[in-house]
Amino acid sequence: MPLIPNHFIFLEALEDALQKAAAESRPLGICLLWLDSVYRIDAIFGFRAGDTVCAKSLQHIQAILKDTDRVFRVGRSVVACLLPTLANEAQAVLAAHKIIRELGSQLALDQYTVHNVPYVGVALFPAHAQDADTLLQRASSALQEGRLRKEPVFVYSQEADTATQAQLHLQTDLRHALDENTLTLKHQPQTDLSSGRVVGFEALSRWHSLTRGEVSPTIFIPAAEAAGLMHGLSVRVLNTALREFQELGSAADDLSISINLSAHDLLHTETPDLLTQALSTWGVAANRVIIEITETAIMDDQRARAMTLERLKEIGVQLAVDDFGTGYSSLARLKHLPVDELKIDVSFVQHMLRDVRDEKIVRTIIDLAHSLDLRVVAEGVEDEATLQRLIEMDCDVAQGYFLSPPLALEPFRAWLASKQT
Ligand code: C2E
Ligand code: MG
Ligand code: MG
Repeated sequence: MPLIPNHFIFLEALEDALQKAAAESRPLGICLLWLDSVYRIDAIFGFRAGDTVCAKSLQHIQAILKDTDRVFRVGRSVVACLLPTLANEAQAVLAAHKIIRELGSQLALDQYTVHNVPYVGVALFPAHAQDADTLLQRASSALQEGRLRKEPVFVYSQEADTATQAQLHLQTDLRHALDENTLTLKHQPQTDLSSGRVVGFEALSRWHSLTRGEVSPTIFIPAAEAAGLMHGLSVRVLNTALREFQELGSAADDLSISINLSAHDLLHTETPDLLTQALSTWGVAANRVIIEITETAIMDDQRARAMTLERLKEIGVQLAVDDFGTGYSSLARLKHLPVDELKIDVSFVQHMLRDVRDEKIVRTIIDLAHSLDLRVVAEGVEDEATLQRLIEMDCDVAQGYFLSPPLALEPFRAWLASKQT
């Protein structure tokens, strides 16, 4: 008999247990457990050490469960516990918490201590599935969901499963769209409030899917991040935006182009090099480009992010803090960041004439930006009255539907031409 049975042996044992549970009309539970330390141990100390950690974990779990419960290693770092004699379903959840308590502490491995952060997915018969394969899939889905939500114990839920499946479909469609290069850009102009002149524009990604219709970037950008597609998307966006900027030719004389990068792009050390490459490919001067990064990402003081910001700045592009006011800014940090511009989030500007608190926030951000010698841009200007109030408040630049919605390249060129006559 092998020391560690594989998942076929687990499935056989589960099938037997399910038959008995069905005959006796009793619930049955399985806990699927992911040992995060095993991969780390494998990589640092080798597979033998990884196996030792796993075997020790199995012993610890078996020791705290009932004699009738059985523990199986079903993957390199995945353990399945079969709980065939439950009095009620809540007992399975209690067992899962006991496992977390036991393994969440440190494990000693030779002279090293290993810190485990385990996750447990729980699935129950008859509530979640009737057969062994489906029950295992449900436990696996619960485990995945728990890891995503950072909840150490997660009980299978139909809604969470459906949402996860929908997210996976979306990611697959997005991968195809990227492969087929069907994402496009629209450009939204920005107007200087003291002169009334157009001074720049923001390039915004658009995805028109044949099956889904228009998908908002607020949906597909986070999906791209979750699927590991963000880097590819950003390289595409940088190149397309700069190519279109160059194609505008003299129509874009004296204009700046703002391009959004994500939190993830700041962790990629190649991002500044890719930007340099794209600037030289399309012959765009660095000082015409503003890179927008959301407040939450820019305020994160991880060293890798801070270094990317410094390197972007060295290239000669300007930096803007996007969606300012929605994140959590440390003024001490803001003072030291190499940024040039604050963009007030749409949500404050949109209602500032109706909600005095929003108006105060807008005024405060404008004052803050000016006292730090930063340019301030109001996003989401939807009517003339808001525009006038922003002028009174000494805001520098405005962007919003009242001036123009985001436009594809040719309509944008025509819009620019109409402003020059
Ligand atoms: P953002 O960068 O803050 O862009 C401003 C958003 O406000 C855009 O939404 C724009 O269409 C919308 N907007 C413009 N004027 C108005 C207005 O008057 N009223 C209202 N209510 N909204 C207005 P969009 O295009 O849906 O983009 C949403 C967000 O998705 C962007 O917010 C940005 O964070 C992200 N995003 C878009 N394209 C890219 C991209 O290429 N890369 C990355 N990393 N993020 C992108
Ligand atoms: Mg933006
Ligand atoms: Mg914004």
